[in-house]
Amino acid sequence: MDTMELKHRIAAVQEKIAAAARAAGRDPGEITLCAATKVQTDDTIRAAIAGGIKVCGENRVQEMTAHLAAGAYEGARLHFIGHLQTNKVNKVVGKAELIQSVDSLHLLQAVNAQAEKLSVVQDILLEVNIAGEESKGGCPVGELPRLVEAAQAMGHVRLRGLMAIPPISHKPGANRPYFSAMRELFVDIKGKMSDNQTDMTCLSMGMSGDYEDAVAEGATLVRVGTALFGPRPPMGAAR
Ligand SMILES: *Cc1c(COP(=O)(O)O)cnc(C)c1O
Repeated sequence: MDTMELKHRIAAVQEKIAAAARAAGRDPGEITLCAATKVQTDDTIRAAIAGGIKVCGENRVQEMTAHLAAGAYEGARLHFIGHLQTNKVNKVVGKAELIQSVDSLHLLQAVNAQAEKLSVVQDILLEVNIAGEESKGGCPVGELPRLVEAAQAMGHVRLRGLMAIPPISHKPGANRPYFSAMRELFVDIKGKMSDNQTDMTCLSMGMSGDYEDAVAEGATLVRVGTALFGPRPPMGAAR
């Protein structure tokens, strides 16, 4: 895809986000477009940033490391959005500004330990398996309170919000109940936090097929790949 085409697509997605926000009585400025850059080249990522992308979301540690080495993310912020193994946290903590995909106590502890080692505080989201899908990442809804409590007690992670990846939707509106349930969890956790913990600002949900629905239900960050970059080869489609 050439640079102009990419720029047009970015603008089109941003307009749809803004329209969905206004329709829901929300300020479009509350919503961040995160470009899901998995399988894209350094040049495509640079073109996306030149075209207005301010946040890149990367899935795979190896790709992220290579893009970082090439300086491809320059001019944008970097989030990690993919499944993270505890033995790879040292490649992500302190490099990605936000790790969106923390989904177990084990991983939370590993991230905190690595952040402590680097003397940094790592911003994280807790990923929730909101649809209760067998083969998916994300913590079960029932485990969320325990993870929230654990994160709050740790000195080197800062809980910024929640993330979810509901089923790929082919029907408009199909995921709205999941998005709405996520919003309830988000509001509930925020409400339970003491006054000095107002760091919970990010509700990451919505992808190419359903980001407008997610915005209507309260998303503050949407992760969009295909609608910006076109279809990925089948290998890249796996999470
Ligand atoms: C690939 C990916 C996306 C974007 O998916 P599209 O359907 O291509 O927009 C969003 N979130 C995560 C975690 C992803 O892996």
